[in-house]
Parts: sequence; structure tokens; C-alpha cells
Amino acid sequence: MQKYFQKIYCDGFEQFVNLLEGKMDKEEKTFVITANPETLMIGVDTPAFDEILKSDKTIIVPDGIGVVKAAQMLNIPVKERVTGVEIVQKLFEMLDKKNKSLYLLGAKQEVLEKLVERIGQEYPNVQLLGHTDGYVKDKDAVFEQIAECKPDVVLVALGIPAQEQLIYKHYDKFEKGIFVGVGGSFDVLSGTKKRAPKIFIKLNLEWLYRIAKEPKRIKRFYVSNVKFISKIQKMKRQTNED
Ligand code: UDP
Repeated sequence: MQKYFQKIYCDGFEQFVNLLEGKMDKEEKTFVITANPETLMIGVDTPAFDEILKSDKTIIVPDGIGVVKAAQMLNIPVKERVTGVEIVQKLFEMLDKKNKSLYLLGAKQEVLEKLVERIGQEYPNVQLLGHTDGYVKDKDAVFEQIAECKPDVVLVALGIPAQEQLIYKHYDKFEKGIFVGVGGSFDVLSGTKKRAPKIFIKLNLEWLYRIAKEPKRIKRFYVSNVKFISKIQKMKRQTNED
């Protein structure tokens, strides 16, 4: 866990978007992991995902407020949340402005179709090289095809950690591209699910809204967050003792 926090992105959303724009312009390969407490706890419990989080190929950004607060408790100067859904919106704008290309993998077929329609209407200069829903059997074969298209951005919405593991497995086949595991972002950006109202976001209660809307998340949320908090407290005590 310490290692994840040592490499977490600190400088805030706008700076991060600038960083991505620079990477896109220079065609520098980039792999973004948007982290909430659950992401980091899966890393602690899953060696294959732990390797990905620690890898110098990946950038971890603080998506969830829990990660921001935990970093601050550990005296790591994380400025604010950098959310997956907002990164995706900015990437669409950038691709549109620069006439660059995109591939979408993940979510249900009907969600993806709606998102493709939206992109066509709102970002007409984006070159959508392809899209595949997240329920196809052979996702490795899909990734082989994606590698052949050489997109500027590849968004993968399969949930944590499947999306990151799939990207990582195929990452070395690509010479360029910004890769982001975006969880439920296609559901939100297609208009299928609503993001929390602004007031919830402002009060750092977006997580509460998601649980209220989808009560099946509560067990997953509770287990990982309780473990996360106790781990952070332990790390803080260790820091104070050093
Ligand atoms: N999903 C998918 N294939 C699967 C399982 C999930 O495409 O086999 C999609 C699902 O439809 C949703 C996204 O992955 O769009 C996961 O969303 P969730 O909000 O659960 O993501 P997380 O909380 O893990 O970020």
C-alpha cells in the first residue's frame, strides 16, 4: 500500500489533463489507473494486480475521496480528486480538437451503442476506430485487433481489476496510446446512469449516492473501506513512530 501512495498523482485535475495532452501530442504511451480505496485493497490482496499498481508503466490517480483523504493523512500532498469520468470527458474533447482516434471496449452492448451515438453527435471529429462490448468471450482477441488499429486512446470499461489486467497483458504490443480503465464511466457518459448531483460531489458524498442507487454495492464497499481505513491508520502510526 505504501508503494501505491508513493507514486500517486498529486497535482490536481487540470494539471493531469495537461499532462495527458502532452503525452497525446508526443505519442507517449500512458496507462492510467483511477483508484478508489477498493482498487488499492484489491491490489493488496491480489499479487497480479499489485504488480500492475506498482509498475512504472502505470500512473495512479486519486479517483475516490477516500484515497485523497488517506493520502493527506499520510502527509502526501494530493491536491484533489482526479476522476475517471472527468478524464474521459476531457479525452473526448482533446481527441475531437486534434482529430485523433479512439477505441472503446466494455460495458453492455446497448450502453456502448448509446455512447457511440453521443460521441458522434458531440465530438464529430473523433475517429472512432471500433467498439466492442464487455461481454464478448475472447477479449484477448479483441485487444489484438485494437493493437493493429493503433488508436490514440483506448478506454476499457470492465470493472476493477479486469480492465487493468487486460490492458497490462497487451500493453507492450502498442507503440503509442493513452490507456485508461474507466469502470462504470460508459454507463454515466452514455446517459444510462446518472452521476451523483453536484451537491453530493461537492460534499464528497458521491460514494453515498452510488450506494443508495445500487444497494448491492454496500457489502463490497463496506468490506474494502473498513479494511482500508484500518490499514491507513496503521501506516500513519508507523510514520509517526519513525
Ligand atoms: N462490465 C463488462 N463486462 C463484464 C463485467 C462488467 O463490460 O464482464 C462493465 C459493466 O457493464 C460496467 C463496468 O464494466 O459498465 C463496471 O462498472 P462498475 O461501476 O462496477 O465499475 P467499478 O465500480 O469497478 O469501477
